[in-house]
Amino acid sequence: MRESNDEIRSCFIWNGFDYNLQVWVKDGIILDCNHPQSMKDNGCCKSHSLAGRSILLTPGAEYVAETIIINGICVRNIKQQ
Ligand SMILES: [Zn+2]
Repeated sequence: MRESNDEIRSCFIWNGFDYNLQVWVKDGIILDCNHPQSMKDNGCCKSHSLAGRSILLTPGAEYVAETIIINGICVRNIKQQ
């Protein structure tokens, strides 16, 4: 079984990578990208346009229905086929 370190809260990524939105999340807030400012000025990517938003209030965020507890942290339950 592959384990993910992404922390889940209220069925959304709280700390980790949201695959639907393709953004990193920290403490429930979408992080900005690391693109140069010149690229950001031209609207480089979703991370930048969504940066600072709550993942719980962002349409299209990944919904994680199946979770398990590992080391006291709620994470994705990923079953290997
Ligand atoms: Zn960017």
